[in-house]
Amino acid sequence: MNINRKPIFAANWKMNKGASETEDFVKSFLSKTQGQSFSCEIVIAPPFVSLPKLADLLHTAATGKNAHAIQIAAQNCSQFDSGAYTGEISVLMLREFFVHYVILGHSERRAIYGETDAIINAKMKKAREANLKPIFCIGETLAERESGKLESVLRTQITEGLKDLTDKDMAETVIAYEPVWAIGTGVTATSQQAQDAHAFVRSVIAELYGADTAGRIRIQYGGSVKPGNAAELMACPDIDGALIGGAALEPQSFFEIIVNGSAE
Ligand code: PEP
Repeated sequence: MNINRKPIFAANWKMNKGASETEDFVKSFLSKTQGQSFSCEIVIAPPFVSLPKLADLLHTAATGKNAHAIQIAAQNCSQFDSGAYTGEISVLMLREFFVHYVILGHSERRAIYGETDAIINAKMKKAREANLKPIFCIGETLAERESGKLESVLRTQITEGLKDLTDKDMAETVIAYEPVWAIGTGVTATSQQAQDAHAFVRSVIAELYGADTAGRIRIQYGGSVKPGNAAELMACPDIDGALIGGAALEPQSFFEIIVNGSAE
């Protein structure tokens, strides 16, 4: 953690929690955060169909002045504006539900849905056109790490995925370094492995966009983050928060990760 960058903790619910479970989670989570102030940003990315419920609950909580501001993220968006793209959701549709962030390039989108760096790049640009803030995910497989390709894989994902994005776009972008072998496996990168990868990612951003942008951009770690390992990971100088899957499905563990990870 670096005091000049506000840490960002984002819950990626994946295909979990419809509207009623979203309501249960948010009520419980807000009861824990009530009256507390955090020096970090909190984001929840529910499935698309739960966005209206989440927006509604957070709006009501905010007007009741009993909630820490929580931002809403989508888990994906279309690279197209509108039209014959069955099953897709456009950036403007997301804006209607007060979505501010969008997760792009998640390893599950890359591996299961065949999203290439070029597709992810098109989505990044479309997100920025609508002033959405991308949470741009990158990370290597175990085979890539073990064959010494960690840096070349990350470099390609960064240069292709961020192609043609401006300095201004980068100011609104968060990077999530998520080693594929640590996602949903219970295996976490050691803090040294995570720090080394984050420092490398920041150095590539410095090459592409300069030291100022690299010093400002937030790089989250993702991959089996839990209440018990959050503090050690977040103590690393180049780690600026976490993208959390499994452990963010329970209000208590998401809350504990935030508390443990954002303690100064
Ligand atoms: C993720 O899917 O982005 C993730 C980090 O999942 P988990 O925390 O379950 O490893």
